[in-house]
Amino acid sequence: MEKAIGTIGFIGLGRMGRPMASNLCRKGFDLAVHDVNPEAVEFLTAAGAKAATGIPDLARASSVVITMLPSSVEVEAVVLGPDGVLAHGREGLLVMDMSTVEPRTTDALHMAASGRGMSVVDAPVGRLATHADSGESLFMVGASEADFARVLPLLQAMGSTIHHCGGVGTGIRTKLVNNCLAIVSCQLNAEALALSQRFGLDLGKTLNVLYGTTATNGQLRMNWPNKVLSGDTTPGFTIDLAHKDLSVIIDAANAVKVPLPVTSAAREAFSMARARNYSACDFSAIVDALCEIAGIERPRLPSG
Ligand code: NAD
Repeated sequence: MEKAIGTIGFIGLGRMGRPMASNLCRKGFDLAVHDVNPEAVEFLTAAGAKAATGIPDLARASSVVITMLPSSVEVEAVVLGPDGVLAHGREGLLVMDMSTVEPRTTDALHMAASGRGMSVVDAPVGRLATHADSGESLFMVGASEADFARVLPLLQAMGSTIHHCGGVGTGIRTKLVNNCLAIVSCQLNAEALALSQRFGLDLGKTLNVLYGTTATNGQLRMNWPNKVLSGDTTPGFTIDLAHKDLSVIIDAANAVKVPLPVTSAAREAFSMARARNYSACDFSAIVDALCEIAGIERPRLPSG
């Protein structure tokens, strides 16, 4: 039944794109894949996908192209560039960008695609990388009703919770609102736990108190105990990408005259972490960066 949708092109097979594309393969979709990193492509061909020889080849073969790239820069080059998806796709092609990008990028994609008889859906991804592994991601979708119906089987194959937020551009704007809270809460957690460490409190006992009051949050409860507090700072979601998201959020808010003083301060805390070589660490390691700066022992739970 899935084959009726035609070939799905998938560009960007990193920490998120790899499990998302793998889940599509596993559920029987025909996939043509591309990434600048050959190892990422090999992982998917081993799972049953075809390797495209390049973006033009992938675009010509596909009825839907999914992009899961780091930022606006890569998405604009891959979709709008002279050798990009729109230049080589056929009429009726649907491009679903699932990356976290600047809203003006989504708007530019939408305009460029409409002018060529193609369409765009923005479907950025919520929850953690481990949810993408298990096919339990949450998607925030901006799409016309007809395009939403077209991409729904794909989203159902990659995730478990799907929100149709409204027309094109509403998915990415919802994602920025979500990440404003999710990432700033990491900086708040870092400050509170650094203080707990400096006071010499027992970390497990402190967490048990926080989990029982309104002080808790999803990062502290769901992500941190399995990541930085267990000594695992492999990404997940990198400090660099969290810094990119905060910058996108601040720019987008400035464009509509919404001041974000706390978010701006949090972004600079992430700038400090990047300056101290935490760029490629999981974003929960923001607490390690703060503790390093303050000369405090990093918070770690006893194993088990
Ligand atoms: P990543 O850096 O692990 O993966 C990006 C992939 O894109 C890499 O494999 C890279 O080689 C490839 N790439 C870069 N430029 C390319 C180009 N020009 N052509 C083809 N391939 C190219 O990043 P990720 O963690 O998978 O995140 C992807 C997007 O999803 C980002 O926008 C991020 O903000 C967002 N996101 C990430 C998470 C997470 O937990 N990691 C969660 C939700 C959303």
